[in-house]
Amino acid sequence: MPINFELKEAPKREDRLYPCITYGGTLCGLQNRLGGGACFQDGSREFSQGSLCLLLPALAIINSFPNNVTLMHASVGCGSCLHSQNGSSRAGNLLRFGKIRDSIWVSTALNEVDVISGGIEKLEKAIFEVDKTYNPKTITVVTGCVPGIIGDDVDGLINKMRGETSAVLIPVYCEGFKTKIWATAYDDMYHGLIKSVLDDPHGRERVVPHNIDDCRFEDLKKRRVNLCNISSMSRLDELELTRLLNALYLDVNIVPLYSDSEQLFNVKYAALTISTCPTHDDYFLQFLKQAYGIPYLLEHMPVEADSVVYSSLLWPVINTLIHLRDYS
Ligand code: SF4
Repeated sequence: MPINFELKEAPKREDRLYPCITYGGTLCGLQNRLGGGACFQDGSREFSQGSLCLLLPALAIINSFPNNVTLMHASVGCGSCLHSQNGSSRAGNLLRFGKIRDSIWVSTALNEVDVISGGIEKLEKAIFEVDKTYNPKTITVVTGCVPGIIGDDVDGLINKMRGETSAVLIPVYCEGFKTKIWATAYDDMYHGLIKSVLDDPHGRERVVPHNIDDCRFEDLKKRRVNLCNISSMSRLDELELTRLLNALYLDVNIVPLYSDSEQLFNVKYAALTISTCPTHDDYFLQFLKQAYGIPYLLEHMPVEADSVVYSSLLWPVINTLIHLRDYS
């Protein structure tokens, strides 16, 4: 069924994929149901030990974006995982760009008074201040539970402010209470990119390379493949897959990890999108297919940096490309 990408935020995975995250019964019962091809609906799980919420996986990716400031609209503790994530962000920058870069994040630090009176004014001021102080290319506004509970109209504010800041605003709605499946965070993060960097007129104006005309884009479209990496692949994996795809005379656009807004904008100019992680990327792949007709390959990731293992991905790539009408 087509997904409605016009919604404010991505649907929960419970509603989109109907997964089963808990099962009460015997192993025989499980085998009988699975053997009969029955679908498992989500069981009711009343208790969960402390685990990560949506914020952690979403922030791990968002923090890798170059020229970005992460603006948490949440109570102050919600951003605490950013302290530990900064180490991998520094290492990732060093490996890709040859220099260490700290990720920048700030928080509206919502308190008891904000819970009563609302946090929108505080957020508006914070967006202007971040834009002026850091002059980033993008500001990613990430919401935690509090604005969701008190009903802050963050979407309305961001829509109103588009064009008023020099940075492109990317909304990512990560209220921890909204789902038991934290992998929904990947959909939320991709949805924010879809609603801003990929299609927003303001974003388009900023990120289209001025020296590349439409003909060149058409040409690029035939030779470029998007390679999705949210973190399941290391830098070594990225390099090896790029090397193999280059050997097929294909340009590779690796997104979204460590991608700037221009790379993200350019995902629509590709012949094919490849993902090696079904958990991470299926929402984005479906968007690219639905919105731009870009076919995709969704393979399980190779498990080691070994060309023989990676090469198993190449046959489906070749096979798909030769069936594309406009590939030559
Ligand atoms: S569950 Fe809610 S309050 Fe807790 S860290 Fe996640 S967003 Fe913040």
